Amino acid sequence: MTRRNDYIFPIHCIIKTGIHGTGYIDGIYMKVTVCSPGIYTYGAMLIGGIIRDLGYDVTIERDLHAIDGDLLFLSLYSTQHLLNPLIKEAVRTCRAKGTRCYIGGPVSAYPDIVFGELNPDAVVIGEGEPAIPVLLKTEDPSQAPNCMYRSDGSLLSTERVRMTEIEHPVPLIPDDIRNQSIRGANVYIETHRGCFGRCGFCQVPLFFGRKIRSRDIEPILNEVRAFKEKGVEKVAISGGTGSLYKSHDNTLDTGAFLELLEGLSGIMGPKNVSCPDIRVDCITDEVLEAIRNHTVGWIFFGIESGSQKMLDSIRKGIIIEQAEEAIGRCRQSGVHAAGSLICGYPGETEEDFLMTKDFLSRNALEDVFISIAEPIPHTPLGTMVLEINRDENPVYAPHKGEYASLHLTEAEARAFDLMLHADMSKPVLRLITDDIFSSYLSEAKQQGTDIRAATDLLFRYHGRDV
Ligand code: SF4
Repeated sequence: MTRRNDYIFPIHCIIKTGIHGTGYIDGIYMKVTVCSPGIYTYGAMLIGGIIRDLGYDVTIERDLHAIDGDLLFLSLYSTQHLLNPLIKEAVRTCRAKGTRCYIGGPVSAYPDIVFGELNPDAVVIGEGEPAIPVLLKTEDPSQAPNCMYRSDGSLLSTERVRMTEIEHPVPLIPDDIRNQSIRGANVYIETHRGCFGRCGFCQVPLFFGRKIRSRDIEPILNEVRAFKEKGVEKVAISGGTGSLYKSHDNTLDTGAFLELLEGLSGIMGPKNVSCPDIRVDCITDEVLEAIRNHTVGWIFFGIESGSQKMLDSIRKGIIIEQAEEAIGRCRQSGVHAAGSLICGYPGETEEDFLMTKDFLSRNALEDVFISIAEPIPHTPLGTMVLEINRDENPVYAPHKGEYASLHLTEAEARAFDLMLHADMSKPVLRLITDDIFSSYLSEAKQQGTDIRAATDLLFRYHGRDV
């Protein structure tokens, strides 16, 4: 049920105040913790920056044991978090102590499941900026936009608001940010929201929409200077497709992106900037030149599969030849081409899988990420997985082929096989030692275990047997 909320959010009043507070608001002291388990996510730091500039005493934590204060904003970025006993215990303990607990982040795209698993005071759905100032002022989440809360045993939602402009204060940057490494970067910064892609496994279009909303260059550069002052050495542009920055109407317009990369490399040095994720249909010669000159010089394309049938099923919106051409253009431009591949997608046959292996053999990517398809709730893949029988799903089906003695599921066996094959297809052959073999095997098994747990969770909330 959606409940109309008549609160109108004055975002500019909040963002431009720049107050660094004592924690006393209207004579009342309030201590706030923002926590993202394991890593300081950009989203958590952003929420922390908004709370700081509103005048509250706020700290940012990645350790659940450090949670303290009157109010907790817990930012969760993985379905696995909803199943994590330590996170369940942290939320239970907070609420037992009277600490108000609000959960946001990517998991908020399925707030009913968040409630069922963690039972917070409210879930902040989607973009947190409109809700945060209200939740700090009142204990009643029904007053805040973008919230789901419980009332008389029912889950109710307030009005959904999406920011028209992406403008925000400098994030709350923890002192030990320089110690974290996410794919080689200390931090992934936000340049824009949204993606005009429709990939069935991806949450970005659902969460942020397909229209690109970009930040201005100057606030981004100021923010990067602030990160550098805190000791950050390496920054990356966050997921989706970096070169869509400032693009409009589903049309690539790379001028501002080139200016942005030049500005970032001017501050950090080109070897300390990366823009890893770019769609194969979002490169131009100028983009490749800027990637080579102003970044570490790598692109990770979302290749996903070497089978056109699977690319169509994934709704990738590209043809195999485009992926091959993009890799070739990188090579000609002196840019390192890497790629992400997905296996175990529903409907992927042995023939499709062999086409993906052939793609790797033909194209010799310099690095490869292999993932078993994870059905995030409410994505097209999530819906697809609910429509097939369990024994048709390669995430559960036992593997009976070459690796039968390793007791893997079909999805695990394909992930493992692709990891080995990717190494053997690289331009510089990588020797598969016993250690590498074992680490790939355990990685494939772990992915299988996690994705079965996420799929079981999805089934439970749709009344399917587990
Ligand atoms: S191109 Fe990337 S960000 Fe866009 S929908 Fe596809 S996977 Fe998601």
